[in-house]
Amino acid sequence: MKYKKSKTWYQDRLDNLKRYTTKQEKEFLLLEDDVPLIDKLKTLTDTKPLNELDAMALMFKLREISVSNIIEIQQECHCGSVNAYNIDTNDFFNFDFEDGIPLGVFESINDIINTKITDKLILKEYNKIQEKIVKNAQKVFSPVVKKQCKKCKDELEVMVNPNQIISKSSPASIYQDYLSLSYYSNFSKLDTDSMYPFEREIFLKLLSEKIKEEPKLGG
Ligand SMILES: [Zn+2]
Repeated sequence: MKYKKSKTWYQDRLDNLKRYTTKQEKEFLLLEDDVPLIDKLKTLTDTKPLNELDAMALMFKLREISVSNIIEIQQECHCGSVNAYNIDTNDFFNFDFEDGIPLGVFESINDIINTKITDKLILKEYNKIQEKIVKNAQKVFSPVVKKQCKKCKDELEVMVNPNQIISKSSPASIYQDYLSLSYYSNFSKLDTDSMYPFEREIFLKLLSEKIKEEPKLGG
């Protein structure tokens, strides 16, 4: 299941993406599982996806700016071992090389830009290849990344569910966050609602450090 869009298509949409707040995050998590992704996305952004895969791609990008670019995920292998991975949202977007770009030689555009292979190429040749890549490369989005089982070494296909993309929390844990932030500091529910998810995480981390330093704060 692969899906291609020109760089411009993504760029136009990505430029318009705005971070979502804790309130929007909670509204998303409270929607029933059978609500189509396209409709769920309305709680997070005005950007209109064309189809479900579009919606998924936008969700990864929205997560990157609102929560974190890292998704912690556990995946069970057929061998019974449970693997934990930290997956970068960028791993779901890859450059696809077309028109004679030597696929076997260059794994990704970063290999070209940062690479040691420049030693082996004449500068002119290198510039020519780079120019061609910028012209022809397209971002390919796939909602599945391939990982290796740490025990049996078999390949695992890891797919992240929409709630995990949008949030590290559950509705219940967000209510717990409201309570912690209002009980131990002066944030109202409204204040917490207006925080970006990554901001809420920072405040909660600072708060738990403070409670450790001053145990009487924690009761
Ligand atoms: Zn395994």
